[in-house]
Amino acid sequence: MNFDKEQFKAAVQRRLTRDFSKDIGQNDTHDVYDAVAASVLDGVIKNWMKTRSAYDARRARTIYYLSAEFLMGRALGNNIINLCIKDAVLEALKEAGIDYNTIEEQEPDAGLGNGGLGRLAACFLDSLATLNYPAVGYGIRYRYGMFEQRIENGFQVEYPDNWLKYRDPWEIRRSDADVEVLFGGNVAVRHEADGRDHFFLENAERVTATPYDTPIIGYGTDTVNTLRLWEASSPDGFDLQLFNEMHYTRAVARQNSAEDISRVLYPNDSGPSGKALRLKQQYFFCSASLQDMIRSYTSVYGEDFSKFADLHVIQLNDTHPVVAVPELMRLLMDEHRLEWDEAWAVVTKTFAYTNHTILAEALEKWPIDIFQGLLPRVYQIVEEINRRFIADLRSRFPDDYDKQNRMSIIRSGMIYMAWLAIHSCFSVNGVAALHSEILRTKELKDWAELYPAKFNNKTNGVTQRRWLLSANPRLASFITKYAGSGWETDLSVLKNLEKYADDDAVLNELLEIKRANKEDLASWLKETQNEFLDPESIFDVQIKRLHEYKRQLLNILHIIYLYNRISEDENFAPPARTFIFGAKAASGYRRAKSIIKLINSVAAKINNDKRVGGKIRVVFVENYRVSAAEKIFPAADVSEQISTAGKEASGTGNMKFMLNGALTLGTLDGANIEIVEEAGEENAFIFGLRAEEIHAMDKEHSYNPQHYIGQNPHLARALNQLVDGTFDSSPQMFRELYDSLVYGVEGQRPDVYYVLADFDAYCRAQEEVAAAYTDRQGWAKKTLLNIARCGKFSSDRTIEDYVRDIWKLEKIKID
Ligand SMILES: *Cc1c(COP(=O)(O)O)cnc(C)c1O
Repeated sequence: MNFDKEQFKAAVQRRLTRDFSKDIGQNDTHDVYDAVAASVLDGVIKNWMKTRSAYDARRARTIYYLSAEFLMGRALGNNIINLCIKDAVLEALKEAGIDYNTIEEQEPDAGLGNGGLGRLAACFLDSLATLNYPAVGYGIRYRYGMFEQRIENGFQVEYPDNWLKYRDPWEIRRSDADVEVLFGGNVAVRHEADGRDHFFLENAERVTATPYDTPIIGYGTDTVNTLRLWEASSPDGFDLQLFNEMHYTRAVARQNSAEDISRVLYPNDSGPSGKALRLKQQYFFCSASLQDMIRSYTSVYGEDFSKFADLHVIQLNDTHPVVAVPELMRLLMDEHRLEWDEAWAVVTKTFAYTNHTILAEALEKWPIDIFQGLLPRVYQIVEEINRRFIADLRSRFPDDYDKQNRMSIIRSGMIYMAWLAIHSCFSVNGVAALHSEILRTKELKDWAELYPAKFNNKTNGVTQRRWLLSANPRLASFITKYAGSGWETDLSVLKNLEKYADDDAVLNELLEIKRANKEDLASWLKETQNEFLDPESIFDVQIKRLHEYKRQLLNILHIIYLYNRISEDENFAPPARTFIFGAKAASGYRRAKSIIKLINSVAAKINNDKRVGGKIRVVFVENYRVSAAEKIFPAADVSEQISTAGKEASGTGNMKFMLNGALTLGTLDGANIEIVEEAGEENAFIFGLRAEEIHAMDKEHSYNPQHYIGQNPHLARALNQLVDGTFDSSPQMFRELYDSLVYGVEGQRPDVYYVLADFDAYCRAQEEVAAAYTDRQGWAKKTLLNIARCGKFSSDRTIEDYVRDIWKLEKIKID
């Protein structure tokens, strides 16, 4: 991008005066942020338009990424980096007397996602634009994103995330591209002159979908792709009649009902939603997106759909958008007069599905009555898809009634969205090698036998532009200095660092960078939470959603154990450690919230105990989100990836840590396996039961936590402290947690996630960490080798894998 400093300064000033009637000197920082962002966007518009016309002119095959979540975080810093104008912008702002860091901190995160799945979608968009692939992201413009978390008395308290309080300067509303989405009503039939039946809805609720476009700027290229998010409203506004009769609540009921659809993100990660509004959200953005695609398509090809599947590939990010499958059938048949077989041929060549989890509670299923009530015509189509599928199964497995029943898309009053996806899509992928293997051989065995060619793996990745170049400028310069440039778009270049593995001067430089990043994190936490962190200590970090399978409990039990040793034996002097947690719990997930309270109670106790003397500190970072993550990853020494083996599909936090030179302390789960494969086992700390062992114990019901408690007095003691008043004056506070581990509650088996089984191995791995850390050069060497060997975990590599095996796109160069 051509950048003219004087022009840019003038643009910022012009916007401040025109939009806010202010001077640059009047330091109202949010307005200045807005003016700066809008001025950057100005410079992008031309390439954005050029990109669209290039795709149109070339009739380019395009990937449409359908996702209920896009966890984008902040845009300003990322955009000026991808435009390669960061230095120039900083200089211009400095001359204008504006402090860039203050401005940057004004931008609220676009927190339109829960965690890994939503952040993956964001990394994919960045890579697609950078690699010059035609791509559109489709989702929902939630008025309120992921809730803001505050810790009050140690408890998580949720506040609405009012991220649009000021306007979002990056989005463009496009009312000219509105579409209408229908809910409820009844299916009516009209017999047409051509002898066919025409199905349509009567008495349905009409909802307007309005698109908002955000530019997705590729790094060092002119490509600017689009993220299109839909807002819901009522086409009829409020009811003036009722209003005039002073029925104010009823007057706006219709309007509210429509607006509710895009009001708020469901804060569930890998958990059940089961709510009608959630299904409404899913259908709303799927229908709007498909209508959008069809409108552009028919404007060129008319009603001939024979090219549709050549030009569109639609990736379904988990089961959330799977209702798009029957909706495309409906649109093609009811609105565009295709026969079933013609429509089915298009649909089955267009959709591909990504599975993100094997946790049973996360596999979406909808009660028929909810589904049918909300989407009566779509339900008929799902029934017909299933009828034909079961007929096919019967002919293949005439005697296997059990299989026919197991695989039925509709069963016991429920619609199984994953089954619908696997049957209808031409590709089904998992997100790490182990995960895809478990899908193929266990969870989805029936399906992999029926459709072996559909199944494949695409190991996740993260974008190095945000997670290294932007988040960790010190390390980025170090890498350019020693490995050379080019890693920004080819992460395998980091390999060049390996030759410095025994170079003390280089290793010292690396240690100094980590030290400086730790100081930065310490001052940020001092400022925002009044927490004191000692940058001399090991920063041992677990940041991710709070979930039992991720085992924050294992981490905190080890901390309790360490605390016991330190407080009893003043000669016990392990290297000082700071245990850093960041995690949001789903609002309805009581046990997860209890774990947050426990972490904070343990922190309060330990941080105020003089006997501990700074040997350990526990810090809970409030409101974990992308912009916090960008400050934490660069400062981490140890990456806690301690999920129960077989439960974490991939993880991507593990990759961001590796990229920033933290060493993995983890189980052989998800992408951890591939991470140690690349880094070398000697450069990570691996412990615990393997997925196969856990699977066998699960199957045989052979796990008995008492066995481990009886063998390990340290463990018994730590557990007991949950309920003896050590960490809370009420012994009832953590009773439920204790019972869930030791006895099992609500009909569950005890310790479903094998925390106690892995406790001893985890403690020993932690001892290895402490010992390794005291050898500073040895640690630095491991750090350097981790960075050098993390090339595989760029989302650029992931995207190239998707393109080669599934999407079959061509790069389009914009000039
Ligand atoms: C990367 C990321 C995640 C995913 O972390 P995992 O450790 O893979 O679960 C969640 N939230 C945010 C804000 C992230 O940046």
